[in-house]
Amino acid sequence: MTKNLQVMKFGGTSVGNATCIRRSAQIVAHAAKEHKVAAVVSAMSGVTNRLIEAAHHAKQGDREAGKALTEALREQHFEALDALVQSPGTKGPVQERVKQILAEASRLYEGTALLRELTLRTLDAISSLGERLCAPIFAAALGELGARGSAIEATELIMTDSFHGGAEPLPDATREKSQKRMGALLEQGIVPVVTGFIGATADGALTTLGRGGSDYSATILGAALDAEEIIIWTDVEGVLTADPRLVGDARTIPEISYREAAELAYFGAKVLHPKTLRPVLPAGIPVWIRNSFAPEKLGTKITAKGRSIGGGVKALTAIRDVALISVGGPGIVGVTDVVGRTFSTTAELRAEVLLISQSSSQNDICFIVAKAHAQATLEALRKEFAQDLAHQVVDHIAMDPDIAIVAVVGENMRGTPGVAGRTFHALGKENVNMIAIAQGSSETNISFVVSDKAVQTALQTLHREFHLADAS
Ligand code: ADP
Ligand code: ASP
Ligand code: MG
Repeated sequence: MTKNLQVMKFGGTSVGNATCIRRSAQIVAHAAKEHKVAAVVSAMSGVTNRLIEAAHHAKQGDREAGKALTEALREQHFEALDALVQSPGTKGPVQERVKQILAEASRLYEGTALLRELTLRTLDAISSLGERLCAPIFAAALGELGARGSAIEATELIMTDSFHGGAEPLPDATREKSQKRMGALLEQGIVPVVTGFIGATADGALTTLGRGGSDYSATILGAALDAEEIIIWTDVEGVLTADPRLVGDARTIPEISYREAAELAYFGAKVLHPKTLRPVLPAGIPVWIRNSFAPEKLGTKITAKGRSIGGGVKALTAIRDVALISVGGPGIVGVTDVVGRTFSTTAELRAEVLLISQSSSQNDICFIVAKAHAQATLEALRKEFAQDLAHQVVDHIAMDPDIAIVAVVGENMRGTPGVAGRTFHALGKENVNMIAIAQGSSETNISFVVSDKAVQTALQTLHREFHLADAS
């Protein structure tokens, strides 16, 4: 319905202070001269972490952490607003809005400290405050640049299920709400400035889409509004051949397929939330990753087809903060339901399994989950297999938290002989020990488990081995 629409998302560092907000608002104002534009903004960088940390203090009964943070956030956001907006007519209402949101923050922290209880629903309400504070300031900054912006909370747009902390969008309801609420604004040339990261259930409870979820918000809205393209503005020049913090000569990939990018995101490339590409697959909407600090650079274009480099390795990634869980014992050979029971247990906990490997002798299954889920998974499995442990059918259910998954990603890798061999040979030469390997049936990645200490060596070694620093 909205022809010619660009959805632009700005991450935490791109709205990290007044200078960054101005630069990002300039990008929007410039684009708004030729396109309809909807902006999606994250919280100022670091704010979500601080909000969550204070929530955990409040849960322990600490009443001061929430107070101190609320005060610090007031200063930080007022300072940004002062630097960005001169006209009192614009500034006043935004100050009022910031005060209202901070008053809500105080009540949430006080309630938590009083009850010493932090439900996932309350944690969502607290985590969302950063985006809610940022959007009105960003909209006002647009006004100052001669564009027209209107802050909207995504609770009015993105409808989700009630899984707090990682809610799933409901596309039809979201489409209806978003078109209704944003259509007229866009027709009038007004830029809706939407809070990333959040949504709401049908009965109005605020939910969040999971950490880093503002990328997902942008594609959910882009799909709901039939956008022409979605641009994710961040602090690096696109999707790189590896995390630049770990591999110094990582290079921007000019074009990459949905599948490859999704695989990278899934295996830890923080530049994209793992679910980001799901909403755009049916309509094939292109997604750009660009650097808000260097808008003259083109960045990476993510499309259905990508640009083929004739098969082979395109990029590397690693996922840390994970733990390996193994269930094993000589007795499990022939016990047909061990695998089924293991994964029903993880499914019940909604603990996503990132990699599975089963030894060929079938006496050990190991799999990887996020560290956040590891302890609960371990306990649930020990309960599930209590009888089998007692009868030594299963002799161990163990966890190793000091590991990481490294993934080598590229379309059609399976059709390129020697990738696995080269990977393992190169790592062997550097004495990187592989704890488990999973090539699975995916043609797009080879992933393996190494000790967390070996991650950087593994990435640098493979980056060299596959000549990823050379221009394609
Ligand atoms: P934002 O706040 O804009 O959402 P994030 O910090 O979530 O930004 O994601 C951008 C960061 O992702 C980069 O600064 C970079 O360190 C990291 N990153 C990890 N892997 C990659 C990769 N393959 N390409 C680009 N960036 C990556
Ligand atoms: N502010 C949220 C977070 O830090 C969402 C995001 O930045 O994408 O997780
Ligand atoms: Mg992010």
